[in-house]
Amino acid sequence: MPSAPDRLAVHEEDFGDAEDILRRQSLRESAARTYARSLPVVPVRAHGMTIEAADGRRYLDCLSGAGTLALGHNHPVVVEAIRAVLDSGAPLHVLDLATPVKDAFTTALFETLPRELAEHARVQFCGPAGTDAVEAALKLVRTATGRDGLLAFSGGYHGMTAGALAVTGDTAVRAAAGGAADAGVTRLPYPYAYRCPFGVGGDHGAELSARLTESLLDDPKGGIRPPAGMLLEPVQGEGGVIPAPDTWLRRMRAVTRARGIPLIADEVQTGVGRTGAFWAVEHSGVVPDVMVLAKAIGGSLPLAVVVYHEDLDVWRPGAHAGTFRGNQLAMAAGTATLTHVLREGLAARAADLGARMLARLRDLAAAHPCAGDVRGRGLMLGVELVDPEGTATVHGVPPTASRLAAAVRSAALDRGLIVELGGRDASVVRLLPPLTMTDEQAEAVLDRLADALTAAAASRT
Ligand code: PMP
Repeated sequence: MPSAPDRLAVHEEDFGDAEDILRRQSLRESAARTYARSLPVVPVRAHGMTIEAADGRRYLDCLSGAGTLALGHNHPVVVEAIRAVLDSGAPLHVLDLATPVKDAFTTALFETLPRELAEHARVQFCGPAGTDAVEAALKLVRTATGRDGLLAFSGGYHGMTAGALAVTGDTAVRAAAGGAADAGVTRLPYPYAYRCPFGVGGDHGAELSARLTESLLDDPKGGIRPPAGMLLEPVQGEGGVIPAPDTWLRRMRAVTRARGIPLIADEVQTGVGRTGAFWAVEHSGVVPDVMVLAKAIGGSLPLAVVVYHEDLDVWRPGAHAGTFRGNQLAMAAGTATLTHVLREGLAARAADLGARMLARLRDLAAAHPCAGDVRGRGLMLGVELVDPEGTATVHGVPPTASRLAAAVRSAALDRGLIVELGGRDASVVRLLPPLTMTDEQAEAVLDRLADALTAAAASRT
């Protein structure tokens, strides 16, 4: 049996070089493909935060499978956990039957949850994507409350299936899916300080957004469909890396609790240490009624769950079914990841390293007027690019610079750094490195990004 690198070499010869693979991809795959367009890379090996491509180039990966790879690529504890299941002869697919592998995952997951929730928690294993967990959560609260309205936030991203899309903010993708699905969704302003809808920003802007929410809910002529739940991201990811102030989150908890509205925290992207706490809601001490979890909980393999207070558990048997709810390899990889992040204190590490990176990004922004705002929490970081000469928007800040952002992403790739974009007009350069990133790697990421920003800004002028 050849060693792994030999096998890879055979594989590469069989399929031709990177250019051929990319050409075949563009000829054969859907026009809807996403990352593959902006990142023309053919990964063949990966370890930690390094990806090696078929053309021999190496990249520092700050996309991490859109925030999935808490421990980076092929972490030994993850690989070992997968191998142990394979070697044991355990079944790989068993619908939602009980297995020791699943039992261990549930135990590990409950150990990480906010205690108040864990003591009364139920978990539903749903389809394997984040969007499946969002659908399950919406059905759960609608069944439990008997209401069908929903409260969601501007800039929110919750997935691409019909229900999740209805609560997602992006108007263009919603329109393409047909508008009917979002009837009953009330969209409230998220506390986005840089582009504050009230023109004041900071805690004051967040307070005004909370007051608007409260007054709409209590106004019998406010036009709100009685809500089954409020769905929010503690830090908006795809929306442009926007951390909600802890005070605002506490207000949303108080507002929903006082009115008997379940609070659903979408921690698909923020979970498993990413923001500097194991779950992002912990920063504020808020205990939601429902948590939607995916991405990193599967340790790089597909796995999603909804965790919720037992009082909500009134849906019927089979109310939310699906074939792929028992991926044993994902559960084993997930158990290994959750345990490792907890045991090694990687959330604290993310908080510390993230704060240092944020400080350096702020220095970078001070030297570049096109870097309008720098923000983030833990290792979820973003730089919003703007056109400083453009006419100020309604928010009183310069307009977005989406072409520049795309140029920075491409210049970063040329320098061996993978980053993605998000936010309004895809103008926010986002960093989602693994929590295992070393100080030296963080320095290299920032050096390459600074260089890319300088080059892209210079070529624009
Ligand atoms: N919620 C949030 C907050 C997300 O960031 C995402 C994915 N980026 C989703 C839900 C949807 O997850 P998936 O792509 O696995 O369906």
